[in-house]
Parts: sequence; structure tokens; C-alpha cells
Amino acid sequence: MTLDDTHDQTLQSWLESANDPATDFPIQNLPLGRFRRDPNGPWLAGVAIGDQVVDLQQAGLVASGDANALIGAGKDQRLALRKALSDGLRAGSLQQARLQAALVAQSQVELGLPCEIRDYTDFYTSVHHATTIGKQFRPDNPLLPNYKWVPIGYHGRASSIVASGASFRRPRGQLKAPDADSPKLGACARLDYELELGVIVGRPNPMGDPVGIAQAEDHVFGLALFNDWSARDIQGWEYQPLGPFLSKNFASTLSPWVVTLEALAPFRAPFTRPDGDPQPLPYLDSPANRAEGAFDIELEVWLQTPKMREAGSEGERLSTSNYKDAYWTVAQMVAHHTVNGCNLASGDLFGSGTLSGPAPEQGGSLMELSQGGKKPIVFANGESRTWLQDGDSIILRGYCRRDGFRRIGFGECRGTVLPSHPAA
Ligand code: CA
Repeated sequence: MTLDDTHDQTLQSWLESANDPATDFPIQNLPLGRFRRDPNGPWLAGVAIGDQVVDLQQAGLVASGDANALIGAGKDQRLALRKALSDGLRAGSLQQARLQAALVAQSQVELGLPCEIRDYTDFYTSVHHATTIGKQFRPDNPLLPNYKWVPIGYHGRASSIVASGASFRRPRGQLKAPDADSPKLGACARLDYELELGVIVGRPNPMGDPVGIAQAEDHVFGLALFNDWSARDIQGWEYQPLGPFLSKNFASTLSPWVVTLEALAPFRAPFTRPDGDPQPLPYLDSPANRAEGAFDIELEVWLQTPKMREAGSEGERLSTSNYKDAYWTVAQMVAHHTVNGCNLASGDLFGSGTLSGPAPEQGGSLMELSQGGKKPIVFANGESRTWLQDGDSIILRGYCRRDGFRRIGFGECRGTVLPSHPAA
């Protein structure tokens, strides 16, 4: 990946909030999202800077406010936009007045999904998550033999992907207790979250034309935070033989800002395999992927119960992990997804799969942290959880730090559980 003057850690903006050491959105980041000024207005492409949004069309930086068009335009246009924004927003820029006129406070607008999501595929790239979950479903055979060869995934559903901040109803579904003769319809009692990153596909590929791993990242726009809410009781009964279905497609929450691959360039990490594990097949292997195929992104999950909210508390941190511990890279996901000729569209979303770290306390879901509901997590205010309760909010956060570079962040991905439909 190329580093240039847009990554210079000493760059400052004329916008003071962008220079706050605590902001996720300094001038080195410049993530893309969509906003609207009123509930009936159009969704417009914008870039976060400090506590503001740059209206890209108003600033004269794009021909239309269509985020999908920008996402699909490819790397050259994305680089040109990054350069123009970096030049215009930096302290002393002659374009300050023009860009200042195109700023709107993030607190004054609604932030939506970062683009129209086309298709959604969820991968399963954390071997730590796959092993821990596998032990609960299949104690004698936790990791299936294909895992170390195939970037496992399934096709999800785009219609129920919602923007950060949205609430969703606890799902109903078929539930069957292990000792029951037959299932019953009811509200999910084992509601969970999944800490994931979302990969937003940029440039499409024609059907029939696989994307080789060397070109794979040319088809990726960037990364966002993603919470793949999961109904573990529904999942346990329905998942064989075809995989998850209604346990996964009732809601998934995506953060408003997509951090581009260019912004992430300083935070790349080598892709490695543990000793004794097979190396990837040639179509999933390249020198660039080995050298810097992974991303060093620190991740956090927070839970805020209604009681914490009433007490003015931001919640408690449940776990941390790092995306560099994933078993498969973004480039490998793209190369594998298209190896059969499958065509990807601009605005397609890949979920990374739950990003659990190697240590037990680094589980990216309650399924792992509560050991399948057996070990309650106890909070400072005396409350405890094994599964999510109505009114609970889950907040995901992510950020990148490296010596010699400015810290950048992903903002937050927040969702809140509502009671199930009254028919349940
Ligand atoms: Ca998932």
C-alpha cells in the first residue's frame, strides 16, 4: 500500500474538532458515509471530519450525491477525492471558505447506511470464534476439516441491514429445547450480538470473470463496523444441513462511516499461518497478501443496559480483539467469492464473521463470553447477563494506532433490542 502526504501525522486541519486527539475522524482518516438533513430528504454522500460532515456535492468534489456511484468508481477517483479533501481541509488551505460552506455538524443530521447495500455475504474468518462455537455445537469435532482450506461463508440478506442507532425487535422463531420432543414458536431467549467488520465492495466484476488475489483489493472500497445479531436458540435448531437462516436475517447493524483502504494503509499487518497449518491454495496466496494482507484494527464491544442508561453510564466494555487475528484476509475473501465467476456489485457487503481473539475473554459474542449461557457476566452495578435483554444496547468501536501515525477510528456501531412482536 502506498503512503503519501495525506498520512502525515503532523497534518492539522483548519477545523479545530479534527485536531482533537480523541476524535476518530482527523484529516488523515476521511471516511465516507451518507447523511440527510431532514427525514424526507435524499441521502447524500459525505465525509466525516472531526465533528462535521463535508457535503461532497455541495463542496463541488463529486458530480452527484450518490454514494454508490462514488464507491463503484474505483481506486483512482477515490484517491483523487482523498487528495482533494486533504488539501482543502488542511490548515492554511486557500479552499477553506469553499469547504467550510459545505460543512454540516454530525449532530444536526441523520447518519444512514453508508451506501445502498446490494448483496450481503457473511464469512467466518476467525478461527478462534469457529473453534469455540464449534465446541459448543460439536464437542468432539469443533473445527470442520474444510475450515483451514476454504474461506467459509453463506449468503445473507441485505433487506434487514440497518443503520447504527436503529432499534430492532427481538425475533420469534422455532425453538426446541434439547429434551423436548418437538419445537414451539416463541420469542428468542438466547439473543446475541456478533462483533464483525463489514467490507464494502467498490468496483464490480463481470459475471464469469474471477478477481485474482493480486487485484482483489482494487475491488474493495473500505471497512466499517458490523454487528450481526444472532438468535442462538433458533440457530441451534435450524442450522443443519444448510446453515443459518432465520437466526441471522432479522437484523444486522452497520456503522455510518466506511474507512477507505487508503486511510488504513499505515495499519497493514502480515498474513501468517500457525506452524503446522496448511498454506492457502495458490489462488488465495500472493506475496502482497503475505506481506501486508491483514489489518491491525483494535475492536471493542460495549453493553449498555437500560439501568446503566438511566444512571448516565456509557455502559461496560465486554471484550476487545484485533482484526489481525483473523484466519483469512479481505483479499482472500474477494478472490474466493469470485473464483467461480460470481459477480460482485458496488455496495455489496461482506461480513468478516465474528472477530474473536485467541484468549477466552476476547470472544466476540455472548455465546463465547458466557460459555453458551452457563457463566453470567456480572457488571459493576450488580446486573448480569448471559444473553441480551430487552432495552440493551450493544456498541461496537474500532480504531487503528501505530507509532509515527495519527490514530484513526471507525466511530461507533450501536443497536438496541426492543421487545418481540406482541404476537409472540
Ligand atoms: Ca456472523
